[in-house]
Amino acid sequence: MKYDILVIGAGIAGASLAYELVARNGSSRPRVALLEAEDTPGYHSTGRSVALYSECYGHRVVRMLSKASRSFFASPPAGFADHPLMTPRGVLFLARKDQKAVAERLYEETRALARRLELVDAPRARELNPVLDPEYVHCCVYEPDAMDLDVNAVHQGYLRGAKAGGVALITGARVQALDRTATEWRVETSAGTFSAERVVDAAGAWADEVAEHAGTRALGLVALRRTVIAFDPPAGSASDAWPMTIDSEEQFYIKPEAGRLLGSPADETPVPPSDVQPEELDIAHAVDRIERATTLRVRALTRKWAGLRNFFADKLPAVGPDASAASFFWLAGQGGYGIMTAPAMARVAAAHVLGENMPDELTDLGFEASALLPARLVPDEKRA
Ligand SMILES: Cc1cc2nc3c(=O)[nH]c(=O)nc-3n(C[C@H](O)[C@H](O)[C@H](O)COP(=O)(O)OP(=O)(O)OC[C@H]3O[C@@H](n4cnc5c(N)ncnc54)[C@H](O)[C@@H]3O)c2cc1C
Repeated sequence: MKYDILVIGAGIAGASLAYELVARNGSSRPRVALLEAEDTPGYHSTGRSVALYSECYGHRVVRMLSKASRSFFASPPAGFADHPLMTPRGVLFLARKDQKAVAERLYEETRALARRLELVDAPRARELNPVLDPEYVHCCVYEPDAMDLDVNAVHQGYLRGAKAGGVALITGARVQALDRTATEWRVETSAGTFSAERVVDAAGAWADEVAEHAGTRALGLVALRRTVIAFDPPAGSASDAWPMTIDSEEQFYIKPEAGRLLGSPADETPVPPSDVQPEELDIAHAVDRIERATTLRVRALTRKWAGLRNFFADKLPAVGPDASAASFFWLAGQGGYGIMTAPAMARVAAAHVLGENMPDELTDLGFEASALLPARLVPDEKRA
């Protein structure tokens, strides 16, 4: 089957890009197919996130992408979802006395970009999150406008909108080989062969593997396993009103979710791309760190899972054409920010693939597309 553009991977990255490729352009819409290995898009990282939106999290350029994504989540296009995609949560970036300088640095670095930000003392932090141990907490950076995201609604909204714009979603289609002729790519999958002028690698943890199938260079993507546990809050507590609490050096976090608490040791264990499961040692670390910082006692887990956060060496995604094959595009390495940055990142990727200008909402923030180009990850002597 022949298309103009093949997008490989239907997690949040591939789904949001497919949506953006057909969102405009009326009758001149490109013919797009979204090829997904699994039967269910969202089975991997996208379905395993903890659904935070924050303008203080990650690299400076990541923060710009998050900021530029806010308006999409706050007011999505008509018909995108039947309920709000964002609900208020707030985040406390927690510091012990020995982490005071870390909190102050975070505050200085992010206050120009985040909508509202406060450096709060321990009593104020305990008003916001009453289970913080008074012996542990010294101060916090408080981001009141951080939000919970409805990740499933965002992902399904993108998939639905893409299909309405003519995108063919083909599940159970694992890409196994890519060959380039003079004019097009021929892509062999477990569901048949597809061809197109341009391909986009949005294969999450498998992005380097897909690039190698295409004969282009792997860019050094590392998949890091992260563990999440869920447990009950103390009886009678108003935990749903508490902000998420993240250690300022990201050693652990706690997040209220629908009457339960989620916790993580913020582990980052390099693993081969796979369907990862939680390990007992990481669960023990989560419980230990949470119990040291709070008055919470984790008696029983109601759920546990693990997922992959995928990073390049500089902790920035690769978005744009490959350094040696201009019709092979990357949209990979979103780390722990792939949901909160998806609307802006998809627009950047679509601009590259369609040869259009970068979105105004990003250039207005000082964003430069060159910061994300895959070529930055290829040593000069290795470029074709
Ligand atoms: C525990 C945890 C918590 C997180 N919390 C947050 C958060 O609070 N906020 C936030 O913004 N982000 C968070 N993230 C990060 C976020 O989940 C990811 O950045 C995002 O989901 C990446 O999306 P993706 O589409 O690139 O990857 P994926 O969702 O993994 O999608 C890639 C897809 O490609 C498919 N694929 C792979 N190989 C092939 C092939 N050969 N052929 C066809 N298809 C293929 C896979 O099956 C998969 O469906 C978290 C991640 C984890 C693990």
